[in-house]
Amino acid sequence: MAKYKLEYIWLDGYTPVPNLRGKTQIKEYASFPKLEELPNWGFDGSSTQQAEGKSSDCVLKPVAVYPDTTRKNGVLVMCEVMLPDGVTPHPTNHRATILDDAGTWFGFEQEYFLYQDGRPLGFPEEGFPAPQGPYYTGVGFKNVGDVARQIVEEHLDLCLDAGINHEGINAEVAKGQWEFQIFGKGSKKAADDVWVARYILNRLCEKYCVDVEYHCKPIKGDWNGSGMHANFSTEYMRSVGGKDYFEGLMAAFQKHMDEHIAVYGPDNHLRLTGLHETQSIDKFTYGLADRGASIRIPHSFINSGYKGYLEDRRPNSQGDPYQIASRILKTVSTVPTP
Ligand code: ADP
Ligand code: MN
Ligand code: MN
Ligand code: MN
Repeated sequence: MAKYKLEYIWLDGYTPVPNLRGKTQIKEYASFPKLEELPNWGFDGSSTQQAEGKSSDCVLKPVAVYPDTTRKNGVLVMCEVMLPDGVTPHPTNHRATILDDAGTWFGFEQEYFLYQDGRPLGFPEEGFPAPQGPYYTGVGFKNVGDVARQIVEEHLDLCLDAGINHEGINAEVAKGQWEFQIFGKGSKKAADDVWVARYILNRLCEKYCVDVEYHCKPIKGDWNGSGMHANFSTEYMRSVGGKDYFEGLMAAFQKHMDEHIAVYGPDNHLRLTGLHETQSIDKFTYGLADRGASIRIPHSFINSGYKGYLEDRRPNSQGDPYQIASRILKTVSTVPTP
């Protein structure tokens, strides 16, 4: 038997963006614990905007488990928040709103800034660095700095060790801006992985005295904002698809445009301006390889006869992948399949 450090992680009740919370309990297991072996736990919901002080217990229900190589016998336990009965999802539990997602695949491209002393890493104390251009996928100290690369590489290794399905990383268009991509079969799996990757990044940055800035437009002016493009495909889109189905899908996305924007992250009007590879927030468009459209159709989609995945470019870096996946699947479910 060994004592394992179980870090129970959940999303609090803050709006419009929930914060990650976590606390540790120690339990003995013969080997690395399986999900079924992890008990429900509780927390004080009055401290997280999830309950009143009088009756403040909320329940943590483990839904995914990851090795945590930063700690001896470390375990990250992603949880859903439940009401005290243990079976009813708490109103802040958006993971529970995801429709049956068998066969749905999601790829999230999480962009973010690394910040210190109130500005992105690599920004001078006064004024601005050289304009955008060389930073995207850049190399060299003047383009990406030193600490940033170290953090990004360490984060990648920690995520891979945790079994998170990272697909890649790159330096982004603005100085101090980065991206990682996570792909998951099953929308809950993909969204769990994004939240746990965010958790690992936030915690890793503590020791560098660096913060992760997820806001979608932290620097005004000619500096890119941060998105979280959501690439998605259902079983039907991959195996049957077709032009008619695609056009029906796009009509449904057009119809539900406002409901999508409502869960695609706060302050998105600052980012979706029609500039910097975005469509403006009040328009819905789609186009082949069009980075200025709301939805970009990859070449592979057309080449294979309207089959495959689509990229919704509107979700932003602060968006909740549970709510984003939930909304996309809801809209997809309104489109009849013959
Ligand atoms: P870009 O920056 O050009 O938009 P990326 O490589 O950063 O491209 O992101 C593409 C994303 O598409 C990846 O996250 C990948 O996992 C995802 N993806 C690829 N194929 C599928 C698929 N069939 N269903 C859902 N997502 C997919
Ligand atoms: Mn990308
Ligand atoms: Mn990007
Ligand atoms: Mn993209």
